[in-house]
Amino acid sequence: MSEKKWVYLFNEIEEAEKYMGSWDGVRGLLGGKGANLAEMIRIDVPVPPFLTITTEACNAFLANDNQFPEGMWEQSMEALKSVEKASGKKFGDPENPLLVSCRSGAKMSMPGMMDTVLNIGLNDTTAKGLVKITENERFVYDAYRRLIAMFGAVVLDIKDKKFEDALDEVKKARGTEADTDLTADDLKELVKKFKKIIKSEKGFDFPQDPVEQMRLATEAVFSSWNVKRAIDYRKAANIPDDLGTAVNIVTMVFGNSGWESGTGVAFTRNPSTGEKKLFGEYLMNAQGEDVVAGIRNAEKIETLGKKLPDTYKQFVDITQKLEKHYKEMQDVEFTIENKQLWMLQTRNGKRTASAAVKIAVDMANEGMITKEEAVSRVSPDQVDNLLHPQFLGNTLEEAKKSGKQFATGVNASPGAAVGQIYFDADTAERMAKEENKDVIMVRPFTKPDDVHGMLASKGILTSEGGATSHAAVVARQFGVPCIVGASTIRIDMNKRQLEANGVIVKEGEWISLDGGTGEAFLGKMDMTAPLLEEQTDLMTLLSWADDICSQPGIRDAPEGWPTTGLQVWANADYPKDARRARSYGAKGIGLCRTEHMFFETERLPVVQRMILAKTSEERIKALNELLPYQRSDFEGLFEAMDGYPVIIRLIDPPLHEFLPSEESLLEEVITMRVKGEKDGLAEKESLLESVRSMHESNPMMGMRGIRLSIVMPEIVEMQVRAIFEAAANMKLKGVDAKPEVMIPLTGHVNELNHIQPRLIEIAKQVMKEKKIDFEYKFGTMIEIPRAALTAGEIAEVAEFFSFGTNDLTQMTFGYSRDDAERNFLVTYVEEGILPENPFQTVDTDGVGRLMAMSIKEGRETRADLEVGICGEHGGDPASIEFCHTIGQNYVSCSPFRVPVARLAAAHAALKYAPKK
Ligand code: PEP
Ligand code: MG
Repeated sequence: MSEKKWVYLFNEIEEAEKYMGSWDGVRGLLGGKGANLAEMIRIDVPVPPFLTITTEACNAFLANDNQFPEGMWEQSMEALKSVEKASGKKFGDPENPLLVSCRSGAKMSMPGMMDTVLNIGLNDTTAKGLVKITENERFVYDAYRRLIAMFGAVVLDIKDKKFEDALDEVKKARGTEADTDLTADDLKELVKKFKKIIKSEKGFDFPQDPVEQMRLATEAVFSSWNVKRAIDYRKAANIPDDLGTAVNIVTMVFGNSGWESGTGVAFTRNPSTGEKKLFGEYLMNAQGEDVVAGIRNAEKIETLGKKLPDTYKQFVDITQKLEKHYKEMQDVEFTIENKQLWMLQTRNGKRTASAAVKIAVDMANEGMITKEEAVSRVSPDQVDNLLHPQFLGNTLEEAKKSGKQFATGVNASPGAAVGQIYFDADTAERMAKEENKDVIMVRPFTKPDDVHGMLASKGILTSEGGATSHAAVVARQFGVPCIVGASTIRIDMNKRQLEANGVIVKEGEWISLDGGTGEAFLGKMDMTAPLLEEQTDLMTLLSWADDICSQPGIRDAPEGWPTTGLQVWANADYPKDARRARSYGAKGIGLCRTEHMFFETERLPVVQRMILAKTSEERIKALNELLPYQRSDFEGLFEAMDGYPVIIRLIDPPLHEFLPSEESLLEEVITMRVKGEKDGLAEKESLLESVRSMHESNPMMGMRGIRLSIVMPEIVEMQVRAIFEAAANMKLKGVDAKPEVMIPLTGHVNELNHIQPRLIEIAKQVMKEKKIDFEYKFGTMIEIPRAALTAGEIAEVAEFFSFGTNDLTQMTFGYSRDDAERNFLVTYVEEGILPENPFQTVDTDGVGRLMAMSIKEGRETRADLEVGICGEHGGDPASIEFCHTIGQNYVSCSPFRVPVARLAAAHAALKYAPKK
């Protein structure tokens, strides 16, 4: 058996490829840095000769009690000979010494996490030799003192501070603050001092043998894989612990060897804007660490052309070559030694969200990558980031550092908001509308009758509730940044102030919210507000995403199931939201919550009269007053969505939500009695009586949805009439209205059998009256586990299903959607009891299984059953991927999440596309 290969030379990339079978494998074996250095050599980019000791050697070392595996060191020494030959220098040779760096390099870059030692190979003798060659004593002793300090800290684990203090002493004695003022003699002195530190700390001398230096440095780099900061970083960045790090032993080249030398870093495109222009900086006569440390001000990369025109031209050509080769924006490090350019690293550059979009679109337009590749390079989070106002640059960090953060909660609706706080909806609305203030509404939680205040606000902060609470759902729907469940906040309505973690904020004072992170800050912070229509690159990218999803055959599916990707529809209650949804790319309305329209100021009294009616006649009279309102709302929706389906859901919430609360009524009645006010007392008492009679212990499981429609059919009869009159009116005007009527909360097919036929009768009746015939659908929400379990039967009546995953999650887990996050769910996720908050991401094993089963059994009954999702999960990328895999037709989410959902749908389509 041939000996295991632990070491690869700079020109052995093919061997590594043969062994690993793929480029990904090579990166795994040689680390990202080692693989890319070898790749650069292969494509004729100048890289100083080097050798790489593999990650396999690191893992063997760590597994074997920190002993090098057999043969590894001998192979390294052999390889070193080739490096010597290629560089024309010799390790340890005083006449012409080779110096090397020892650098870590894992498969995934872990910036700053692991160790590096530079200038290995210097000792008292080679230093003298190098002085002769370079005629630069200062440079040589500067390099030597750096080696001893780095070696002491990294390899021998001596505190950096010991060396820093010694340096300060010498600087003080010389009366200077800058390292660059130190003379060769000062640096020689420093070398002596540093050696003494090692001797006194460790009891032995700084090793003079270059091979010993290299061996110890290699051990130190391997061991640094398991230091705490590296472990923490891997955990945070989801990098597996068993990858190990490679060690690269690279010939040193010196950017500090005179004024025709230098060093720098550059990106092939601008990493903050994406502009196709080299972006970077450099320093002449300096070493890499000087650029990072900012000892002197670095210069813009383009000015290098004036100093070293030929070298600069070569550099520009190389960066272009690298970008073309990797088909990605590159982040490079380089050094120039006496006009000779050396590349020391290349990797895919990190970038902002807007740069990511621009670079992907530009590269596709340049023909460098396909449109599919461009779409897959941008993440849903980046799109999200681009659509909500954001705090500028490092504003957030600075605010945290200066102690301005006063509370944290669930990040319910992303975006930044800055405003003055008000504690009730009426005041919030008044301040916004009449006084033109930027308002942030702060409440314990919100209810439907707070919506006017929420809509008038720039941001919403609640101390209770979770990701699917009323505040969260409404805020997302309207794109208002929102934090819910900030449980340390106490609101004192009497003093009109809040208190959180010892901080008091009074009504009218300014705060800033980051709905994307769930953090609340004192005072006004700067932000920027982007618009989709202004972001042409993003619009282009999303149109490519739509093209991917609309390809027939992109999804493998059973006979009759959709073979295109998911469509994205929106949840919208009002015409203006529908228009926004359409401009954001929605292809239908998946949920219009009709009851929201009942809360408008002029309608609510009529709704209340309808609810409190003693006779059916009285009720119908009130409903007849409501009908024109609803009809005109629906006309607006059909018009906005001309040609696209509009799913209108019949009334869902329990009726008591439209009435004042029992507590407030009781308080009013008692006050009136005490004050002896007779006027209106009887009405209030009778209202209180009605409210009490409607009280239910578990309203969420009570008389709502289809149950309410069965007991009190007049409301939904009016709604169906309004829907069909609106559709007919629009049709007659030439608008292509496509109504779909959705019945909420079905649990048993008999419920549908009971109510649906009479609603269809009304639909037909209206069409007859209007003398027009058009297509429509009647379907149901699947949001009760029993409905999911009997989907085959339900599909006999329902022509479409829409998963109400807010309720379906609530009822499958038995967790209250309004309280769970506040009480225990956050702990569950933190403790790993649940992998994810199931109200944000579909629980695929439980809730998801019910969904998959419903689709299968539903389509066995009705082959062309249309299936979507309209719970909050419809805008969550991971849930969207799941919806794709179980064969849904569309996902529906709030208008502001439509762009993110379009991208996520395309990602799912690409991920699961049948292999060609
Ligand atoms: C749901 O339950 O998922 C749903 C969309 O309905 P609502 O949130 O209105 O109960
Ligand atoms: Mg529901």
